[in-house]
Amino acid sequence: MKILVVEDDRDIAKLVRLVLQKQNFETDFAETGTQGLQLALSKEYDCIILDIGLPEIDGLEVCRSVRNHRNNTPILILSAFGELDTKVSGLNYGADDYIEKPFQVQELLARVNALIRRSKQQSPDQSFSCGDLRLDLVARTFRVKGQDVSLTNNEFDIMAFLFKNCNRIVSFDELSDYVWPDGDRKETNHVNVYISYIRKKISAIDQTPYIVTVRNQGFKLMEPDSSQ
Ligand code: CA
Repeated sequence: MKILVVEDDRDIAKLVRLVLQKQNFETDFAETGTQGLQLALSKEYDCIILDIGLPEIDGLEVCRSVRNHRNNTPILILSAFGELDTKVSGLNYGADDYIEKPFQVQELLARVNALIRRSKQQSPDQSFSCGDLRLDLVARTFRVKGQDVSLTNNEFDIMAFLFKNCNRIVSFDELSDYVWPDGDRKETNHVNVYISYIRKKISAIDQTPYIVTVRNQGFKLMEPDSSQ
């Protein structure tokens, strides 16, 4: 089990790491929000312990950014403020739990263990289907009539977003924000090009017009039955 501790208070960080190591957890440590975010996104962790007040980027922003990257690692927020607002916004930003400073190390351990247990038990259904299209988010596979179709990362993410919003119009901006979450919003034309690549790949196997362009609005992934 590997845990990332993001905490700029060295005494607290040291204590937390000691306690975790005693329980045979491996730990990585970051002192700034930037460092923490970089580690969270580049390595696999079983849990992230995240302070709110951090240099460079605060913990809530780190949390939001981790979730924007579709990373579901359990996050336990360390809150120094003891304010309801902070707690609530921590959870709104995608954190799983919070604990107030000063905390008992036993309680911290209990929370971490509970979060890890919960995340291992959760195996949400990560596969979607639409007509003869199948998309598996975990295996990152896409099939048309049972045949594997190879998609680039961007194409896959576009399809993932369309599947999650099947039979609903998604705007160019929504789609762009999902696929390029760093605010690197793409032009409509750019998105159109990707969509046309995907359409070609699908229609090589199945002529059903699954991806519909809705003029001036966006796109819709449509189940064949709902097309009337
Ligand atoms: Ca702090």
